[in-house]
Amino acid sequence: MAKETNNTNPKKPRFSSYWIYGIILLFIIGMQLFSGGSGWSTPPEITPAKMERYLAEGDITKIEIITNTKSAKIYLTEEALKKDIHKNAQGQTLLPSASQVPSYTVKFGDAQNFENSINAALESNSMQDTVEVRFDQESNMLGELLLTLLPFILIIGIWIFLMRRMSGGATGGAGGQIFNIGKSKARLFDEKTDMKVTFKDVAGLEGAKEEVQEIVDFLKNPEKYTSLGGKIPKGALLVGPPGTGKTLLAKAVAGEAKVPFFSLSGSDFVEMFVGVGASRVRDLFKQAKDKSPAIIFIDEIDAIGRARGKNNFTGSNDERENTLNQLLTEMDGFGTNTNVIVLAATNRADILDKALMRAGRFDRQIYVDLPDVRERKEIFDVHLRPIKTSESLDLDFLAKQTPGFSGADIANVCNEAALIAARKGKSAVDKQDFLDAVDRIVGGLEKKNKIITPDEKKTIAYHEAGHATVSWLLEHAAPLVKVTIVPRGQSLGAAWYLPEERLIVRPEQMADEMCATMGGRAAEKVMFDKISTGALSDLEKVTKQARAMVTIYGLNDQIGNLTYYDSTGQSDYNFSKPYSEETAKIIDKEISRIIEEQYLRAIKLLEENKDKLTTLADRLLEKEVIFKDDLERIFGKRPFEKKDDSEKKEEELQEKE
Ligand code: ADP
Repeated sequence: MAKETNNTNPKKPRFSSYWIYGIILLFIIGMQLFSGGSGWSTPPEITPAKMERYLAEGDITKIEIITNTKSAKIYLTEEALKKDIHKNAQGQTLLPSASQVPSYTVKFGDAQNFENSINAALESNSMQDTVEVRFDQESNMLGELLLTLLPFILIIGIWIFLMRRMSGGATGGAGGQIFNIGKSKARLFDEKTDMKVTFKDVAGLEGAKEEVQEIVDFLKNPEKYTSLGGKIPKGALLVGPPGTGKTLLAKAVAGEAKVPFFSLSGSDFVEMFVGVGASRVRDLFKQAKDKSPAIIFIDEIDAIGRARGKNNFTGSNDERENTLNQLLTEMDGFGTNTNVIVLAATNRADILDKALMRAGRFDRQIYVDLPDVRERKEIFDVHLRPIKTSESLDLDFLAKQTPGFSGADIANVCNEAALIAARKGKSAVDKQDFLDAVDRIVGGLEKKNKIITPDEKKTIAYHEAGHATVSWLLEHAAPLVKVTIVPRGQSLGAAWYLPEERLIVRPEQMADEMCATMGGRAAEKVMFDKISTGALSDLEKVTKQARAMVTIYGLNDQIGNLTYYDSTGQSDYNFSKPYSEETAKIIDKEISRIIEEQYLRAIKLLEENKDKLTTLADRLLEKEVIFKDDLERIFGKRPFEKKDDSEKKEEELQEKE
């Protein structure tokens, strides 16, 4: 039999709130039992007439009239108790001092009448002196006790209920949550838990994988590194856009490192109560230290690690700062932890507190970027493993069709494609399903029943053809992937490009891009001499771009080499502009000039190529979706076509051979 070994402390009975209930119940029963005569079983009841008869016979020694319960207790004399007719009376054999116990009870309707009849009976038998008649009130111990305790029970009950709600879902036995609120909520993965993700499941991300692997290595044989006097890093921060595989990478670390791995999210620290976050951090590190070497993974660390504000207007949210301070001291304070490495993930490294980022805490920052073509192919490879695909599937093609997609998007494409194929009743997923899935994820659901008049459709076709034509004819505009006029989600049509991955951008490249963006509206103007609202998102894009050229990148002659950008993000520009009214005027004028220039340029280009634009628009109207090949057929090969990286690499390889 397998033994339960992970329980280090011997089995102690756990404290639970049910004990409290139990104790209260016992107490009440005890009170009931020992609260005097009323606790014994009630004596048999007799009628008032019978009572009078017994009275006449001289059997009764005492009558106790209890006014509030409208009953009387009859006490018999000791001789009478021995009589046969009283063999049912209480106290017959049980007690030696039977006269201490009432033998009968009598119920009456009205106390006054009852008393009168007793008095009359006593008088007629002249027994006034031998029979004692008393009046009394009886208190109901149980009822009164309940009444006094009820409010307390209610208050305690509500309090327990609320506490449970607040500590929502914390692990631990029933009722244990109140006492566990300051405990960390981290999930522990160790040799015993089955963690299936390994580095094999993480495609691409070579650099990041290497760094993380090194961390695993540090923990596995620390001596190798410390023997030369080096110190093991305390933490690594995984930074990158959402869906790029940061959490996945951490999961892989958990799967590969054969050390305990604590995983939790930044928001797990923060609770309604003050001081809980800090105590949870302390508890987390204490647990990790106990099991060291160990890894702690904090997902979405920005929830607690946001820069501590200078201007805390409201005075609230101190709790988060306390939590962060505790984290800072745990990571690098006195009492430094040995062999506990903290991994954290965020997509907002820019808002993290500087103190958190400094060397000695998160010594390493690992950038996890959006995948390039080659990496996308690898990610497709990973996610296609469980999917039944048709033989002809070309991964390179898929990778090229998905520029700007993150790992999570690609995982979604694969899943969506499988669903689409299943809906169509296919036995394997083919290329078309993947393309449909990509379309769906980029543009949203196809709106087949959206009502578009033929006129509108024509406008949309020319608009998209305009984009395609201009971008085809300009050197620096992004090469086109496909154009569609199928309405999806919010958009009526779309032209997709494969943006070059540029690290620095020149003004002429920006100008070409803006010109291509204005190509849609320009085409409408050239063909119909009318413009429409369809260009809203284009206008938004160029306006932002032009504003950035002027106010951020210093690419405008009139404004010159200055920027109004503040990388610290702590500027007070929200309320006041950093430039004068005059400069504001120049900025506005320049933005408008830049956009107008590109618009006119697009018009000129399209007028020169009106015939090709028309052919393209007609083809678009006919087929609804057209690809790069169709454009090549109309325009001829694009003169400035650059080879992409993978092609270049292949060529290099061939040259070497
Ligand atoms: P985040 O960076 O936001 O933490 P996740 O790690 O949660 O993103 O990634 C979400 C999903 O995307 C993963 O579960 C995985 O299926 C997929 N994914 C992301 N990047 C990769 C990758 N490099 N290789 C394989 N799958 C990936």
